[in-house]
Amino acid sequence: MNLTVRILIGMAAGVLVGLAVQGFTSDGHWIQAVLIQDVFDAGGKVFIASLRLMVVPLVLVSLVCGSSSLADGASMGRLGGKSIGLYLFTTAVAISLALGLALFISPGEGGSASQAVEYTPRPSPGLKETFLNIFPTNPVRAMADGNMLQIIVFALLLGTALGRSGDAGQRIRSLFEDLNGVLMRLIVMLISLAPFGVFFLMAKLFSEVGWRDIIELGKYFATVVLALIIHASVVYPALLLWLAKTNPLKFYQKMREPMLFAFSTSSSGATLPVTLRTVEKKLGVDNSIASFSVPLGATINMDGTAIMQGVATVFIAQYFHVDLVFTDYLMVILTATMASVGTAAVPGVGLIMLTMVLTQVGLPVEGIALIIGVDRLLDMTRTAVNVAGDATVATIVAHSEKKLDRSVLDDPDAGRANP
Ligand code: ASP
Repeated sequence: MNLTVRILIGMAAGVLVGLAVQGFTSDGHWIQAVLIQDVFDAGGKVFIASLRLMVVPLVLVSLVCGSSSLADGASMGRLGGKSIGLYLFTTAVAISLALGLALFISPGEGGSASQAVEYTPRPSPGLKETFLNIFPTNPVRAMADGNMLQIIVFALLLGTALGRSGDAGQRIRSLFEDLNGVLMRLIVMLISLAPFGVFFLMAKLFSEVGWRDIIELGKYFATVVLALIIHASVVYPALLLWLAKTNPLKFYQKMREPMLFAFSTSSSGATLPVTLRTVEKKLGVDNSIASFSVPLGATINMDGTAIMQGVATVFIAQYFHVDLVFTDYLMVILTATMASVGTAAVPGVGLIMLTMVLTQVGLPVEGIALIIGVDRLLDMTRTAVNVAGDATVATIVAHSEKKLDRSVLDDPDAGRANP
């Protein structure tokens, strides 16, 4: 049975078990205390740890290989410019779509501000700090902290130097290439555990989901999900067809695994090893493009998150009866695009960064308390879109650089490996 089917079975079984626990046991029952809070919670955490464990070594090794083969500064600059430009563009489109849809559906109308609960915002980092944070002073610390942008900068520099160091560079480069192959094998070994990991995560989540919140906030919830679906099924396919001459159906068929991982872990960071492997081995994007574009995308590109922020801003404005004008919406597009760059690729951070957007247009940050109850499920859905966006841009950039291997893309069995 193939891995995707096994993951789907694990997912469905987890949902059923979680719902049964929620429906048939009371709070404090031993099933909830021991089975869910201890056993399943631990199982889910081990699964996420097994994915995260690969992120730092993989990004470093893979990007050193990639950048050492690019070698000249011009192609690296072009690659960086295209990737960053496309990431910002897709995010701006995502947030505009979300704003348009939310203004059309009006999810926050009829709400009353008196129902708002208390919310103390956590400070979000400023633009200057976010910028300075890209430059490492100590690569070991950057790796220990898992600071992705700093690791990317260091790997790019090291790879470029290797590419320019003659025989010595060549020897070290082949070592990195061997290491890369070994890490790819490790990914295959660890993702074969996914059906169990996904089962644990789903069972815990669905034993706790607050259905009342979802029903009460049904319009908001549905608007976010609708905008996510439109973005993933119209915007990305259009870009893939137009800019990469790639069949979107084939693309999504290959992207099933990373999207399922993103959905169940709510973390594009934890999903990164799977995304990178899929983009290279199944979509046929050359390592020199994928090793740069995919980790960069996982770090700065969050279209799904921007969609949630757009809908949430309109929802909160309507709820508190604040009229936003055209320039406010432009400000929301700008800040949400920037917030997307600064959002860490872990669960729930998009909601924290929403503070930055709301403050920019003078909306009360307490509004976040209104939507917090439904954010867990939305986080899963938007993370899947975030990951699809990273792969879309990597594919487009690879096509434009003539580094997309069509024979891999067309082969339905490409990248299928036994652990
Ligand atoms: N969970 C999202 C991600 O990892 C970020 C967010 O929206 O909170 O991509």
